[in-house]
Amino acid sequence: MSAVNLLDFDLDGLAAFCAGLGEKRFRAVQLFRWIHQKGEADFERMTDLAKSLRDKLAGRCEVRPLAVVSEHRSSDGTVKWLFDVGGGNAVETVFIPEDDRGTLCVSSQAGCAVGCRFCSTGHQGFSRNLSTGEILAQLWHAEFALRRQLQLPAGERAITNVVMMGMGEPLQNYAALVPALRTMLDDHGYGLSRRRVTVSTSGMSRMIDRLRDDCPVALAVSLHAPADDLRDALVPLNRKHNLDDLFHACQRYLERAPRDFITFEYCMLDGVNDTPGHARQLVDLVQGRSPCTTPGLQIPCKFNLIPFNPFPQSGLKRSPRERVQAFARILQDAGIVTTIRKTRGDDIDAACGQLAGEVSDRTNAKERLQRRREVIPIHSAGSAEAGA
Ligand code: SF4
Repeated sequence: MSAVNLLDFDLDGLAAFCAGLGEKRFRAVQLFRWIHQKGEADFERMTDLAKSLRDKLAGRCEVRPLAVVSEHRSSDGTVKWLFDVGGGNAVETVFIPEDDRGTLCVSSQAGCAVGCRFCSTGHQGFSRNLSTGEILAQLWHAEFALRRQLQLPAGERAITNVVMMGMGEPLQNYAALVPALRTMLDDHGYGLSRRRVTVSTSGMSRMIDRLRDDCPVALAVSLHAPADDLRDALVPLNRKHNLDDLFHACQRYLERAPRDFITFEYCMLDGVNDTPGHARQLVDLVQGRSPCTTPGLQIPCKFNLIPFNPFPQSGLKRSPRERVQAFARILQDAGIVTTIRKTRGDDIDAACGQLAGEVSDRTNAKERLQRRREVIPIHSAGSAEAGA
């Protein structure tokens, strides 16, 4: 029987597991803090746990890291890890340092079934959902590896923000996602505020409602088009959950959201969705004047315009910089906060939309992963050291 992975539990889950071992909740809190606040995986080093509990844990549990296939650093400080999740699948995780924050972009699935036209992950197809432990292992590894590498003082966090914006549609892996989010928010875990944890979705309306009820963190929506016909072509999920459906879900979400706006992601595609006419349609869309949505339905929002990162199979091109700036100005002149995402980590293929990983539904994925191991350095994941 394989060992129980303690990264699979949020605090309530761990307390229930510990209760099954005859242990009180405060023991689960101690254990949770050792794992998520100190990065400790060795039960023997959890010195304030009773010896009897350490013995029980050692026999049946582990803190299971993901095996690191590679770690690449960009000249701008961005770090990209490729993690092996077994069966020929690998997922990517990216750390983006900025002056006032350190953001980790985390994957939720190996591959993705949504198939957005401009997304290299979508072009790979879907392999499988990640477990809670595999989602959290990305954060766990990154946080404690960075603390070590950056030689941060005890207690100082490397990662201040998490965006579920890596490979996969997080709301299609809901059961694993929610305990991972709760662990990120838990004061005994990573202690991040709800405003600093963002779930990005391509627009699964019913699941947006569930997230609002279960764990309302900040919400980003991959919009990419101002009208249903174009969005149907770029984001196939739109054929099932059209803009009116999506905007009603956004409106309901904002009733409980930790931010009072939705972030709309908009990937700028040359000649496809980037004209001044598209920008004016977008203004109408979010200000309740679009024929695609219920008249008067307005969504408080900000826009994040994303320069497209071309990849050969897409047949799409990046919009020229001047066109992106003109597009942004139209939104800003209409009173909508709009930012143009800086491209980060271009030199290590870590920019948005370049997260491709490897998935097993391609016939020769295992061989390709093996070849990749042969040409890039392999770092052993090991266990993260106590960093606090
Ligand atoms: S943009 Fe997101 S939802 Fe769309 S295919 Fe890529 S990973 Fe999936």
